[in-house]
Amino acid sequence: MSGNESRLQAIYQITNRETLEIDKTEPLNEIWGCDVFSLAKMEDSLSKNAYKAIRKTVQTGESLDAANADIVAAAMKEWAVSKGVKFYSHIFYPLTHATAEKHDGFIITNSEGHAITEFTGSLLIKGEPDGSSFPNGSIRMTNAARGYTAWDPTSPVYIQHTDNGATLMIPCVFMSWTGEALDKKIPLLRSNNAMNKAGNRVLSLMGETDIAPLNSSCGAEQEYFLVDSNFANSRPDLLLTGRTLFGAPSAKGQEFDDHYFGVIPARVQVYMQDVEDQLYRLGIPAKTHHNEVAPGQFEIAPYYEAANVAADHQQMMMTILKGTAKRHGFICLLHEKPFAGINGSGKHVNWSVGNATQGNLLDPGQTPHDNLNFLLFCGAVIRGVHKFGPLLRAVIASAGNDHRLGANEAPPAILSVYLGSQLEKVYEDIKEGKLTSSKSGGEMDLGLSQILNFERDPGDRNRTSPFAFTGNRFEFRAVGSAQSVSGPLVAMNTMLADSLNWIADKLEAELDAGTEQTAAVINVLQKLIKKNGNAVFGGDGYSSEWHEMAVKDRGLKNIPTTADALPALEEESVKALFESTGVLTPVELASRYEVYSEQYILSIEVEAKLVVDMATTSIYPAATRYLSELTMTSSGLGEMGIEMDNSVAKTVASEANMMMAAVKNLSEALEKEDFASTDDHTQYFANVIRGLMDEVRLHADTLETVVADELWPLPKYHEMLFIK
Ligand code: ADP
Ligand code: MG
Repeated sequence: MSGNESRLQAIYQITNRETLEIDKTEPLNEIWGCDVFSLAKMEDSLSKNAYKAIRKTVQTGESLDAANADIVAAAMKEWAVSKGVKFYSHIFYPLTHATAEKHDGFIITNSEGHAITEFTGSLLIKGEPDGSSFPNGSIRMTNAARGYTAWDPTSPVYIQHTDNGATLMIPCVFMSWTGEALDKKIPLLRSNNAMNKAGNRVLSLMGETDIAPLNSSCGAEQEYFLVDSNFANSRPDLLLTGRTLFGAPSAKGQEFDDHYFGVIPARVQVYMQDVEDQLYRLGIPAKTHHNEVAPGQFEIAPYYEAANVAADHQQMMMTILKGTAKRHGFICLLHEKPFAGINGSGKHVNWSVGNATQGNLLDPGQTPHDNLNFLLFCGAVIRGVHKFGPLLRAVIASAGNDHRLGANEAPPAILSVYLGSQLEKVYEDIKEGKLTSSKSGGEMDLGLSQILNFERDPGDRNRTSPFAFTGNRFEFRAVGSAQSVSGPLVAMNTMLADSLNWIADKLEAELDAGTEQTAAVINVLQKLIKKNGNAVFGGDGYSSEWHEMAVKDRGLKNIPTTADALPALEEESVKALFESTGVLTPVELASRYEVYSEQYILSIEVEAKLVVDMATTSIYPAATRYLSELTMTSSGLGEMGIEMDNSVAKTVASEANMMMAAVKNLSEALEKEDFASTDDHTQYFANVIRGLMDEVRLHADTLETVVADELWPLPKYHEMLFIK
């Protein structure tokens, strides 16, 4: 089939597709959490004592003794088997953005050869996948391949349904034989502990006596694209790398802004309902969905949950979005930049910390006392962003996200924090040693007893800030759509822990010296904001003035690529941060630097090889076929004495030649093997390889605008973006 025929056939199939009939009429209360072995289900099936023990473990993280683990495992198995489950799997989160599973049957046979089912506390608690094939950044030699998974009771087990069966999934941590974290869950749990301890110190100094464990929360907004699989299947770049490596802009892009919050196409509605039905069964609180800015782009956001559970749920959501798309004849693209010139996708990570006794500590609250706690916690975040901006940049670094950050559409690659004008003013005043409130009738002296009364106006948002306060939480807007939320959550929790410890030290000294509480808080915050206020910025984060001012006057860093960002993980201050809080040992941190660098290089390498391949085997042939048609026509006409303008043929020939010259350069550049260091290696891919890929694309995309449409082998942007 020629290029054009397969494209026409794809369009025919899409136009004549029958809508998938899906019965989603079961009431929410019947399906909500039905596939989750929740605390409520445990209460029904466990003895009082066993239930008490597991509840304590779930709520406070206290460890579960072996006898009770056996009881819980038995109840879990019984529940799962009654629902048709035959397999169980430890699910864990290695240092990729993916999840990993190791499935085992409940089945064993007894001495008479009869099948019986077995599942003990020790099988529940510990698994032993061959760890050698997971990235470990040289923590383990491959000859010491042992890795362990261990049950994380704070994230509920659930049943995963596939077309041909159901599996009991057990969320786990994953560690090396030597006890080092090889996953994303261990540091997340540790970072929450560190934050809890430090927060507890501050709250105690503030005179709070009843302090429940502090937990971080997360609500992540997920953006994604849907492309019909009839098109995607003829785009090796979409299938292999998740983005288009070639593609001329469509005549109509997103300039009409007519997609955002527009009517959701019927077929996409059905898809979304299918996704949400599955999420509800898994107890994942999907809350909103809508069209996003770019054509073919959508968003789904759940209601927020405890960070650890939210992180697991986020991974499940990505898996379900992708899997369900297939059934509906779509491919779901989670890549940060599937289409050049069209908005990319992010994942806004909404984050806050709080507990059962003091509530949300990033909510200014209703009483002056809440206010002071709020000002301290919010101040701690400001200090964290200022001190550890490069770390925040490093944890959102990936080959995909490089296309967004700093590309004038997504948040800039400079980490600053947006507070909104009212709150910004409060901290400015604190810098001068006073505390004012910002009620709408103008400013007035707070007199240290009144309430900060912020308008929580969602209009007062700064969409150009990478890190914004939004009334009762922070929104880390620069996270990439394909990324795990764990890295960003770990960084935020840990920097907060560090800042809260700093505050506690200073506050303690003030109080010991006899300073009255409110004055002590202001003194501490004054110091904090004088040192770290440079990170606060309320203007246009896309503007070139900011880029200049941030670096020159504010001392902030502009970090455009992953290659520039990852070395932050090697900095002494970052090592000290993670070591002092107990979140990552220097060995664990170093391994992460290695793994993420390697992933970055590999991602670009795969793309680059595909650029060479597609340019050579599909784009160049289309160009030469067109050239031969043109020359045949021209010589035929010539015989009849008719002159043909040959400028098109000249353009095709020269662009095709230049493209192949660029392909040659790229192929040769890919052969380089000797690099002085990891840093050297990532820089080479960021600067040399990426540049050469762009060069090939430039000529290929020009060819697309010249070569006859019917000869063009790849589905075009307007087809992929607009035909649903
Ligand atoms: P927008 O697109 O305007 O930013 P959305 O309603 O799409 O807002 O998403 C806001 C997200 O923030 C939701 O997931 C919501 O549950 C979450 N959220 C709200 N309060 C908190 C909080 N205290 N901590 C963490 N996330 C929160
Ligand atoms: Mg948002």
